[in-house]
Amino acid sequence: MRRQPDRVNRLTAILTRDGSRCVWCGRSFTGLVPPTTDHVVPRVKGGPSWIENEVAACSRCNGQRGHTSPVDWLEECERRGWSPNAEALLRQLDRLRAAIDERGGQRRAARYVESQRRRWIH
Ligand SMILES: [Zn+2]
Repeated sequence: MRRQPDRVNRLTAILTRDGSRCVWCGRSFTGLVPPTTDHVVPRVKGGPSWIENEVAACSRCNGQRGHTSPVDWLEECERRGWSPNAEALLRQLDRLRAAIDERGGQRRAARYVESQRRRWIH
């Protein structure tokens, strides 16, 4: 497997890739709204700590989401009137799927991605 950059460097790369806003609520990151690394497929569901499985979220969203699935949490964010970046999240599911196909393993995460992908109605 290709070596993954460390956590801080991954977060920097994620912000460059997805922009400097929380993927869930859409708030811009500032000193008061610091970015954190959030796993699209939660670690407890077998999600790997790969940049392909990570997005930048504010600590509020990251904490409140907990182990909620990305589709359920996306719906909750919309219910709350926030502006989640559904496009970035969907892209991320597809990137993770491609990374798993390329590297192998991660069967549990792969099944989870498939079930989320089927539920995606956006
Ligand atoms: Zn947020």
